[in-house]
Amino acid sequence: MKSLHRLIRQSALILMAALLLVFSVLTYAGGDALLHRFVDGRLLGLAETLAKIVEQHPNIIESSGEGGALAAEVGGNNKDPHELQDVTHSLRIFSLDGRLVWKAPNASAQQSLSNDLLEQARREAPVFETSETTDGQPVRHVFVSVQRQGQVRYVLQAETSLVLYQETRKGLAILLTLGSGIILLVSWVGSGWLAKQVLTPIEVLSTGAETMSEAHLGKRFTLDSPYQEFRRLTQAFNSVMDRFQRNGEIQRRFCDIAAHEMKTPLTILQGNLDVALMKARTSEEYREALINNLEQVGRLIALTRSLLTLANFTSGKPPVHLVPLALEPMIQDLLDELTLLADDRRITLVFEPQSVPLILGDAQWLKQALINLLDNALHYTPPGGAVTVRLRGAGEGIAVVVEDTGHGIEPEHLPHLFERFYRTDWARAKDAGGTGLGLPIVKEIAEAHGGTISVTSHVDKGSVFTLRLPVLSRQAIPG
Ligand code: ADP
Repeated sequence: MKSLHRLIRQSALILMAALLLVFSVLTYAGGDALLHRFVDGRLLGLAETLAKIVEQHPNIIESSGEGGALAAEVGGNNKDPHELQDVTHSLRIFSLDGRLVWKAPNASAQQSLSNDLLEQARREAPVFETSETTDGQPVRHVFVSVQRQGQVRYVLQAETSLVLYQETRKGLAILLTLGSGIILLVSWVGSGWLAKQVLTPIEVLSTGAETMSEAHLGKRFTLDSPYQEFRRLTQAFNSVMDRFQRNGEIQRRFCDIAAHEMKTPLTILQGNLDVALMKARTSEEYREALINNLEQVGRLIALTRSLLTLANFTSGKPPVHLVPLALEPMIQDLLDELTLLADDRRITLVFEPQSVPLILGDAQWLKQALINLLDNALHYTPPGGAVTVRLRGAGEGIAVVVEDTGHGIEPEHLPHLFERFYRTDWARAKDAGGTGLGLPIVKEIAEAHGGTISVTSHVDKGSVFTLRLPVLSRQAIPG
């Protein structure tokens, strides 16, 4: 497996080495070119000055012979011979036929010049040349023409040793290599420090996460880092832990309540069976016991079905199949089905439709949501009351309102009504039939359609449940 620590260090080193290489090559090449220009410039300056002197005093050559007055004029013969070899310039003057006619004392004898060189120098343009002395020392020459009465008469050769130039160049190369080495060493150490700064907090968090278990869900990380990025990471990690813990608690509570809700009908079932089996009974008594048990089984089935429905809705993708849907006929059909039940309970069931646009919905699940709302309304409204269903436009969507004239709900219960297994004390006291899962299912169905469910209620006056859904044109069709 790749190590981020090694990657950071290697990347820093490779990047730094590449930059240093480019920098060193450019600096070396630039330095070399400048040095070259400097050497050539000085050599040419000297050669031209001497050529001028010879032009103005041609007798210097004839009278002085080898290394006479001219050398004295440029100070050549006052130097230590050893020093002259390295730092000063040697001079020679040639006639146009290539014969050496004069030379400075420190200049070695050079019998003649090549015809090519003579030809170039006669054209009055300076000619540069690099060669080696007999003992292998590099030297640089410049040839310039010397005129007399407007005509080229001689060729002057000035020569300088390149030893100092080469040493300077070598020094520059050593300096660049040493400097690069030190910088690479510092960047290797620095990248190690940086990698440690970056990775230590991550390692602390990883170790913490690895050692985390169900029993330590309440544990939170504290990271002693001055960097805001790591503080944010720690906060994010801890808030994930918060959610994890909260969900765990909700899950546990849900299981507790679900088990409790199942236990009640099962206990009744067991009690009924015990009593029935205690002694011999008439067939009528057995029948009564079985009917009682059937009720409890029905309750268990309803509870299991509701739990399964909720599990379906909370398992990631809601089980809805959305298609364009006209709500009015669907509600009308549903109310027709419930009329008998309403009549039986002596409750007036009214539908007040309005013309509304199509929605994108799942008829089966929307019907289920309305059944839950109407079942409650019919259940919690006393005989002689009324349940009204209204269909109307509401802002950019539509609303299905289920209003009853029943017992109503105390204000303190309203915020919890859509929580799983939540039932008001009054409802619990009234009967043991409900599950407290009907409204949570309505909420899941509404949200799966991009809608909402809300309630307003007044005790002894009744309750109003409003299911809001977006209309077709405003919805994105889920894929
Ligand atoms: P239940 O099976 O108990 O009806 P619900 O989730 O459908 O479960 O409802 C939760 C609680 O909300 C009910 O127990 C009841 O206390 C209250 N409730 C719901 N609808 C009405 C209503 N129309 N009138 C009065 N109380 C209601």
